[in-house]
Amino acid sequence: MKNLGYYNGNIGLIDEISAPITDRAFYFGDGVYDAVMCRNNIPYLLSHHINRIYKNASLLSIAPPNTKEELSLLIKELVKRVDGEEKFVYFHISRGSGIRNHEFTNTKGNLCIMIKPQKIENVYEKMDVCTTKDIRFQMCNIKTLNLIPSVLCAQHAKNNKCEESVFVRDGYVTECSHSNISILKNGKLITAPADCHILPGVTRANLISVAQKNNIEVIEKRYTLAELIDADEIIVTSSSKMAKGVKTVDGKVVGGKDENTLKLLQDEIYFDYINTTNIHL
Ligand code: PLP
Repeated sequence: MKNLGYYNGNIGLIDEISAPITDRAFYFGDGVYDAVMCRNNIPYLLSHHINRIYKNASLLSIAPPNTKEELSLLIKELVKRVDGEEKFVYFHISRGSGIRNHEFTNTKGNLCIMIKPQKIENVYEKMDVCTTKDIRFQMCNIKTLNLIPSVLCAQHAKNNKCEESVFVRDGYVTECSHSNISILKNGKLITAPADCHILPGVTRANLISVAQKNNIEVIEKRYTLAELIDADEIIVTSSSKMAKGVKTVDGKVVGGKDENTLKLLQDEIYFDYINTTNIHL
């Protein structure tokens, strides 16, 4: 298949699969989601993404329709049906269905999955980013379907011919529209703390652990926009980008002062993805 859509057991091409309008995802964005890269039909770090969506569902009292093991097996089976070496797997669990009421009863959640071919490209090519005010709520640690500020932030990037847009809250950098952002300064990795203002990214966690493995001190603290611009290197991380450097922020040239450390961290992250998803495993 060229792509795959799944909704509560129905499987077809993405365009062919529909959900009922009573699904609470439809009118409240009442659900949680996650996304994972897949190579050679091996979803990369799948258990981390599954653990995160179940944790997020539990934080919002959403009842997933499957166990973690069932969801994991289902994703591993479904990816085999889609053509291509590298794929992007998106999955969400909504709270369930019912006539529109803000209050909810304990319905079983609805599961939606979408799989499409997608390559990880230009890992080592630095990107342009722009900044935007972080107008999001206080639950950014939960990957909910409510993404209006992130959608506007991503569009802001596109309008400015940038690859990402960086959220700034009260002068402090939080994260990007769909990625985390960290900096290298004087040989140390500085990244915003995993509080309610950022999503604790799987790739951010990976970046922290490879930095520590390489004896690079990691400081989880708030840092300002001025510190971002003054950084030796800026690193944007997400499952679909891995770890990318940044060449401009709002048109100002940045970084370029610690390319060896940047490359070391990028290599560790990218090669782990390649090795873990090697067909000969
Ligand atoms: N921050 C936000 C707001 C995101 O939407 C994402 C990914 O979609 C990330 C960070 C990166 O998370 P991960 O590394 O788990 O893909």
